[in-house]
Amino acid sequence: MSHATQKTNLKDKHVVVVGAGGSGLAAARLALSAGARVTVNDLAHKDPAILPPGAAGHFGDHPDALFLSADLVVLSPGVPPLAPVARAQAAGVEVVAEVELALRFLDASIGAVTGTNGKSTTVSLLGELFAATGRPAFLGGNLGTPLSDVVGTPAGGPDGLISLELSSFQLEHVTSLRSEVAALLNLTEDHLDRYDSFEHYCRTKLNVFQNDPAAVVYNADDPLVVAGVADVSSPKHAFSVRSTAAAFHLADGVLRFSDFGLSFPVAEMKLTGRHMMANALAAVGSALLMGVPADAVPPVLATFSGLPHRMSFCGEVGGVRFYDDSKATNVGSVEGSLAGWDTPYVLLLGGRHKGAPYTPLVPVLCDRCRAVVVLGESAPLIRADLAGHLPLHDAASFDDAVRMAAALARPGDAVILSPACSSYDMFDNYKQRGDRFAAVVRALGDT
Ligand code: ADP
Repeated sequence: MSHATQKTNLKDKHVVVVGAGGSGLAAARLALSAGARVTVNDLAHKDPAILPPGAAGHFGDHPDALFLSADLVVLSPGVPPLAPVARAQAAGVEVVAEVELALRFLDASIGAVTGTNGKSTTVSLLGELFAATGRPAFLGGNLGTPLSDVVGTPAGGPDGLISLELSSFQLEHVTSLRSEVAALLNLTEDHLDRYDSFEHYCRTKLNVFQNDPAAVVYNADDPLVVAGVADVSSPKHAFSVRSTAAAFHLADGVLRFSDFGLSFPVAEMKLTGRHMMANALAAVGSALLMGVPADAVPPVLATFSGLPHRMSFCGEVGGVRFYDDSKATNVGSVEGSLAGWDTPYVLLLGGRHKGAPYTPLVPVLCDRCRAVVVLGESAPLIRADLAGHLPLHDAASFDDAVRMAAALARPGDAVILSPACSSYDMFDNYKQRGDRFAAVVRALGDT
């Protein structure tokens, strides 16, 4: 038996899993396979047929008695802080994230990635680099497949390589992370609707460095990241799109990893934009530090085209190019996407407010933004922060906003949906918002 599988013994323990979505059900399956008695709890009334055989369901409320009866409470990533869970924890019940439960059963080498923006892009590229080695590889965590699903597969074993995305919410309840490489991409304001302060949010992100990772990869261009890693004792490797002093850097249109004898021209990549180069530096640097051979990297960098809804090109109508950046759900991601954009553009901005001011966008937008069409619940706040700096327009609906942006744009311009807000005031999620944008663009092309 490996050291990891000895770390936790759930035999006959009562495990309460909060959240009956994909991660929660994966955690329930894992706990059952380890011999636990499992109850899955959700505020929504779910169909008991979704439960794995052997699990009980408790739907409709979060009773104190249920959590107090647990030996272990496992939280799905989307679950907000719950008073009954906090009370059980105060009474001595152990509370962990779904990721933490999985980590206790894994022996693989882990490349862990966190930060405010760019996580999914970076872990996806890292996952492709791992897959290129021919070793069993897994990509997941906060994005895609829950980590619990890798337990018991070759990728979870000693020869496995795991590219793991960690959100701040997950990092709140993780203690067993022992990563081969821990990467911190950036720290900008987000989720202030959930955290009492930006400092608290940053401290949670720094939890990615727990248990002395074998190596740390960090963004030397971000002063908060630099300050955050100052006290971390693991060997540190900087990446930078500005300074050639960093171990992994961008210079003269070439990504350079000098210690590994590797360089790659940006012009041969499908990814575009400086923030995407930062993500590529972090992913490739992490992969090299984890033993991915340098000659495995170029074919992956040449073909990796990023993920949908991150500055994805949706089509051209009347000489105007349309881009779906619906995943830009905070101010920092919009700054990342639009800094250095080299044609005039009309921006669709707004949705559900997440607590941070929009004023940091002014210098970026004043460069090339022709007009802003303001959307959704946050419209009055955006208007207040941007008024006097840029032409602002209101729309009656989301579809109307896209059509209005198209009408304001001139041939050669771009129209960009990069909202700086979550989608929940108008849509189920950012994917639905991006898909709707693309559908309206297609309809424009048909008229
Ligand atoms: P996450 O998983 O952290 O949300 P994604 O890779 O999904 O990150 O990208 C989210 C948004 O952030 C996208 O809209 C993208 O344009 C922007 N973005 C991606 N990488 C960065 C970065 N390194 N810095 C700033 N913004 C970024």
